[in-house]
Amino acid sequence: MKYKQGMLIVVSGFSGVGKGTVIQLLIDSMPNLQFSISCTTRAPRVGEENGVNYFFLSEEEFEKKIAAGEFVEYTKTFTNYYGTLKSEIDAPLAHGVDVLLELNVVGARNIKELYPDCITVFIAPPSLDVLKARLIGRGTETQESIERRIKEIEIESKEIRNYDYCVTNNVARSCADKIVNIIRSEHLKVSRQNMTNIFNSEA
Ligand code: 5GP
Repeated sequence: MKYKQGMLIVVSGFSGVGKGTVIQLLIDSMPNLQFSISCTTRAPRVGEENGVNYFFLSEEEFEKKIAAGEFVEYTKTFTNYYGTLKSEIDAPLAHGVDVLLELNVVGARNIKELYPDCITVFIAPPSLDVLKARLIGRGTETQESIERRIKEIEIESKEIRNYDYCVTNNVARSCADKIVNIIRSEHLKVSRQNMTNIFNSEA
């Protein structure tokens, strides 16, 4: 059976912007959307589960997968590796399932080069002050980690202009709804639909 190819959706956003909540709402709203579980060498946060939020690997395990060519993209931030497994995206896409990737700006840029048809969405905070307050308030980060993440924010903000869409996360539900609308509209693009033979009775 030949399936219609699924669509790749890349979501990025500053640390602490509330991507996790928005992504969960998105997944819950769209049955044909599958979250690509990345690999990382960072330690799990409270409440995070191996094989659900990430595949948590040691540095050695991660490097073995690099050597085996298992990643479609990977990046090393200040201290940790993050990477997208080929197996998480190629099979679902081929079966017509849409795949959602949560990537930093480097990963998003790399994926856009490899999959020019993907759509990239940046989730922005209402303001930088709100973001800093959220980052401190979530209580999961050390002072050093917060400072590092604020530096990353400065770098990432220069990349927003390269995204296809930018949505502000004031309220997670309405932010998720906007992304649902983006995905539905993208599916309706003529270039994404197989219009061949619609008016051809011999079809
Ligand atoms: P966190 O440690 O807060 O879960 O994620 C830190 C950053 O890594 C976020 O910007 C997140 O989007 C990004 N990230 C998560 N998984 C991947 C991945 O597989 N590849 C890349 N390039 N970035 C990722």
